[in-house]
Amino acid sequence: MFPLTLKQLPDLLGNAEAPQGLCVMGDVLITGAAIDSRAVRPGDLFFALPGERTDGHAHVAAALERGAVAAVVAREVSVGPAFVVPDPAAALARLGAWNRRRFAGPVVAVGGSHGKTTTRELIAATLHALGPGVRSRANFNNALGVPLTLCELGPSHRWAVVELGASRPSDLTELGGWARPTVAVLTGVGTAHVGTFGGPAALRAAKAELFATLQADGSAVVNGDDPGARSLAAEAGRPVLFAGTGPGCDVRLEPLPAPPGFLRFQRGETSFRLPGFAPHLVSLAACAVAAGEALGLTPESIRDGFAGFQPPPGRGTVTTVGGVTLIDDTYNAPPEGFFAAVDLLARWPVEPPGRRWLVCGGMKELGEEADRLHAELGRRIAAAGLDRAVFVGETGACVAIAAGLLPPIGLQFATAGAAAEAVLNEVRAGDVVLAKGCRSDRLERVVAALAERL
Ligand code: ATP
Ligand code: MG
Repeated sequence: MFPLTLKQLPDLLGNAEAPQGLCVMGDVLITGAAIDSRAVRPGDLFFALPGERTDGHAHVAAALERGAVAAVVAREVSVGPAFVVPDPAAALARLGAWNRRRFAGPVVAVGGSHGKTTTRELIAATLHALGPGVRSRANFNNALGVPLTLCELGPSHRWAVVELGASRPSDLTELGGWARPTVAVLTGVGTAHVGTFGGPAALRAAKAELFATLQADGSAVVNGDDPGARSLAAEAGRPVLFAGTGPGCDVRLEPLPAPPGFLRFQRGETSFRLPGFAPHLVSLAACAVAAGEALGLTPESIRDGFAGFQPPPGRGTVTTVGGVTLIDDTYNAPPEGFFAAVDLLARWPVEPPGRRWLVCGGMKELGEEADRLHAELGRRIAAAGLDRAVFVGETGACVAIAAGLLPPIGLQFATAGAAAEAVLNEVRAGDVVLAKGCRSDRLERVVAALAERL
């Protein structure tokens, strides 16, 4: 964080009541912010928030014991120092926005229906060339995660990449207003959360909010391969850089042949290589190239940055455990990604007697298209000539019917746990196992069980 002391806090938080005795405490430096007492580091300011299972006010003492310099609370607590404010979450946002305003370096904001975390990691991999920076951790993309990320910025940092999630109108206006991006990247506009936005038109308007938060001389980057994002560019109110693989893209990457599990592509004289397989990853990489170029990086330094990229957990990571290749694509399953994964597995080189296994859940948020797309997936799995297809859960069962594969090739289980046991019983060195499904299928449990017990 930028230098801030406890004595400055009441002013910064607006209507906070300074704890009694603060005036005689001397000035204490605040060096960070935390909302989970277990994650408190010495020097942090602890914000007590209501949680689903527990109330942060019950953990103020633990936070102070771990070295928090003070707490921000909604009601009096028996330990201190504690600043009482009407809404500690709003106070955290205020602190994040304050800290961001002290930062003079570039801030890249990544928004969109899908691909945010992946794009954020691609961009962070390239921006390391500028020096140390801050990027959102895990999936910290909401009204708590964004301020926590912004609070991490300090004088030694040279850049920030902030993921902005939205599930309702005005979300991006609020989060982007705190982040004040100098580069805004729109990864795609699909149907995620269409219900909570209030329909497709409201969803589109809400995604366009990202551009309004861009600073005056900032750059807008749009995934030119995503029709939904592309059609929103007119609403940016400023010139937009289209990034992708298609002919209409300003920053255009030309896909090249690549070994299984990798993507290769070219821009001008420079060729790039990334671990991954889904075609959309090239479009997201193009967004990262566009963002990097907007910030003055050369294609060569972007190429070198990509060499350090690892797909975020569950988005196509490849590991080998006990001689078995595990492809973990369990984070989520949009149809194009699922079809690409089946295709990848069918082409994955396996030395006989090695076998290809698919652990298959279902797809979500497809509305009226659900039956058609699950049937299409089943047909593709049947045509892929796999050695084992393990279908999990209710939606997995719909895919299984369309695939029509009989035991021992086609197997069906109600839970991820049962599927893991079945795979563990039979899998052997030389096999490749790809797991993919929607988040509620919890197929990461199958991957974890294999990684632990193979
Ligand atoms: P969340 O809203 O959960 O934070 P996100 O926007 O951060 O998601 P990622 O975690 O990067 O997105 O990716 C989520 C899933 O969407 C992954 O399975 C990924 O393969 C898929 N995906 C990402 N971008 C695209 C795209 N352009 N087209 C199709 N699928 C995509
Ligand atoms: Mg994310």
